[in-house]
Amino acid sequence: MTEIHDVVIIGSGPSGYTAAIYTARANLKPVLFQGMQPGGQLTITTDVENYPGYPEGVLGPKMMEDFQKQAERMGTDIRFEQVTEVDFSKRPFTIKTDFHSVQAKSVIISTGASAKLLGLESETKLMGHGVSACATCDGAFFPDKEVIVIGAGDSAMEEATYLTRFASKVTIVHRRDVFRASAVMVDRAKANPKIDWMLFKQVVDIHAGENGKVKSVTLEDTQSGERSELACDGVFVAIGHTPNSKIFEGQLDMDETGYIKVHDGTYTSVEGVFASGDVMDKIYRQAVTAAGSGCMAAIDCERWLERQEH
Ligand code: NDP
Repeated sequence: MTEIHDVVIIGSGPSGYTAAIYTARANLKPVLFQGMQPGGQLTITTDVENYPGYPEGVLGPKMMEDFQKQAERMGTDIRFEQVTEVDFSKRPFTIKTDFHSVQAKSVIISTGASAKLLGLESETKLMGHGVSACATCDGAFFPDKEVIVIGAGDSAMEEATYLTRFASKVTIVHRRDVFRASAVMVDRAKANPKIDWMLFKQVVDIHAGENGKVKSVTLEDTQSGERSELACDGVFVAIGHTPNSKIFEGQLDMDETGYIKVHDGTYTSVEGVFASGDVMDKIYRQAVTAAGSGCMAAIDCERWLERQEH
């Protein structure tokens, strides 16, 4: 017989775990599907210095371990399964994972977002062979090497600064001369003697040496169209994120970039389905705001369930 739960939470970042803590404390016995990357994006970062309550900072993976423990202690049924399909057309909703299918009276979606890539064939081919989308995961593989970071948002500044712990030189490659990153992050990168800048440049190809690892990139000047080669051992892509909302396409209203639309807090276009965290937030994208909206989703969900009973 198919299990029917009060609430199923999809996603295991700060938002999903916070929703779990709140719904568990409300006695809703939540089931949380962790997905392929338990803990989410924070498990591929190092120090988190801006989450209140940690005066000395905390490591991202450690923080997510603590979130999970707290959700478990409150009684969340945490499952290491990936949700592959949902049916929100009738209630109870159906949620299929790679192992089985469950039903739920309500669903909280906290699936987060993933790093964007340039879309070059060579980028895919050399991923893990010098190309990376995560400096904190792969930076240590580049001791005394020369690497480039593509992008000029806070992620790019943060990654470039972090990479100077290992690399001998880090070149930030940006297609304009205007930075999306906050002034403090740009200033920190500018003050770092290991960081060099290449503006109005776009990476159009990545080349491997005989050892199969990155040895250079082809840059194109975004103003003149002129091409040049730049030798480097590593390419870090830091050009933003895409919301993980593909499996909900056609079932929930989304904006043109795939962020789930919410109203009155965390209500989606389907009654009984709520969304929180980076999958619905393209503005703040912080651990603390994700956790905050996870709490909102739990409260919205709890009140909605209560209304269904009366
Ligand atoms: P952003 O969207 O802010 O920046 C993306 C950067 O990548 C831009 O410079 C953009 O250039 C460039 N870019 C996008 N697509 C391409 C492409 N195809 N080729 C070349 N360059 C490209 O993303 P971030 O991930 O940096 O930041 C997202 C959010 O997360 C922000 O709100 C940020 O403040 C926050 N954040 C905060 C941190 C912190 O506070 N510690 C750390 C990291 C992120 P262009 O400007 O020309 O479009």
